Amino acid sequence: MAVNLDWEKLTFSSVPTHEMFRATSPVYGEWSAGEFVPYGPISLSPAAGVINYGQGIFEGLKAHRTKQGDVVLFRPEDNAKRFASGAERLCMPPFPEDQFVAMVEELVRRNLDFIPPYGLGSLYIRPIMFGSGPVLGLAPAPENTLLIYCSPVGAYFKKKGQQPIRLIVSTDYHRSAAKGMGSTKYIGNYAGEMYHSQKAKADGFNGCIYLDARNEHFIEEVGAANFFCVKGQDLLTPSLGSVLPGITRDSIMALAETMGMKVRARGVSIDEMLEADECFCTGTAAVIAPIGEVSYLGKQYHFNKGKVGEVTQSLYEKLTAIQLCEAEDPFNWVHSVSL
Ligand SMILES: *Cc1c(COP(=O)(O)O)cnc(C)c1O
Repeated sequence: MAVNLDWEKLTFSSVPTHEMFRATSPVYGEWSAGEFVPYGPISLSPAAGVINYGQGIFEGLKAHRTKQGDVVLFRPEDNAKRFASGAERLCMPPFPEDQFVAMVEELVRRNLDFIPPYGLGSLYIRPIMFGSGPVLGLAPAPENTLLIYCSPVGAYFKKKGQQPIRLIVSTDYHRSAAKGMGSTKYIGNYAGEMYHSQKAKADGFNGCIYLDARNEHFIEEVGAANFFCVKGQDLLTPSLGSVLPGITRDSIMALAETMGMKVRARGVSIDEMLEADECFCTGTAAVIAPIGEVSYLGKQYHFNKGKVGEVTQSLYEKLTAIQLCEAEDPFNWVHSVSL
C-alpha cells in the first residue's frame, strides 16, 4: 500500500499510519506478547484509570531514513529504560526493554512507506502506557495497555535553518515540584503546563522557562525540552532531579566533552543564564532549538545578538550527522533497523 503524502508539507502533527502495536497487562502482572493491529480508535471504559486519575506515561523517538536509504533509530534502548522506570513510578509493570526495542523496530518495518524521504523529516514513534481497566476508588487500574504508534513528521527546521526562539521565564508557575513527577514523562506534567505555555504564546513567545520550585533561583527546563547555556568554554545544564533526563541532553553533554568543552550538570542560576554567551534547549523533536531572547521580569535579554551561536550550531551539526550516519558514531548510539 503506497502512501500519497506531500512530504514537503509535513509538520509536527498526527498523521494516521497502517499499524500500531498493542499489549495489555493485569495490575503488577506480566505483559501479554501483544499484537500489531490497524491504527485507529481504541475503546475504553469510562472508569479507566487514565481518564479518571491520569495514570499514564509516554515516550518519543524517531526513525530516520539515511542518504543511503537505510532506516535508523537513535538510542532506542534509552527510551526503553526510561519508559520502564516511568511505568514503575505510575504503578504499572515495566515493559521488557529488549521487547520494547524489538516492537519499535517491527512497527517501523510495518509502516515503512510512511518514513519521509531523506532530509524531509522522520517517523516519530510514540509509545504510551496507561491504566485502561476500570477503577472508582483511587488505586492503580486493574489492567494496563501499552500502545506504540507512529506518525511521519516534518523536519523541525525546514530549509530556512534554525530560527532562534523567544522564551519567557515563568515567575507565576512551576513545572514540577521538588520531589514531584518532573523526571517522569508523566502525562499530567504536560496537561498542567499547557495553560502557562498558551499564555506565553498569546504574548508572542515560543514557550516558558521554568525555575525550580524550592528556591525559584535555578533554571529547570523549557516545557518539554532540556536547557543548556554556554559561557566561554563551559557548557552548563541543570542537574537532574525534578528535570526530565533527556536522551538528547545526555548526547549533547557527551559530544561537547569530545569537543574539549568543560561540561557541568549543576544548579544554573537565573543570573548566570542571563549572562551566558549562548543558550539552547534540547529534545527529540527539535534536537536543538537555539534561544535568541529571554524575557524575565519584564526585561528582554538577547543571546549572541539573537542569532544562532557557534557552539549551538556546531553541536547541532555534530549530533544530526551522527543520527543520520553521516559521521562516525563513537558512542554506538545509532541502531539500524533491519529491513
Ligand atoms: C521528552 C522531554 C525532554 C527531552 O527528552 P529527549 O529524550 O531528549 O527527547 C525534555 N524535557 C521534558 C519535560 C520532556 O518531556
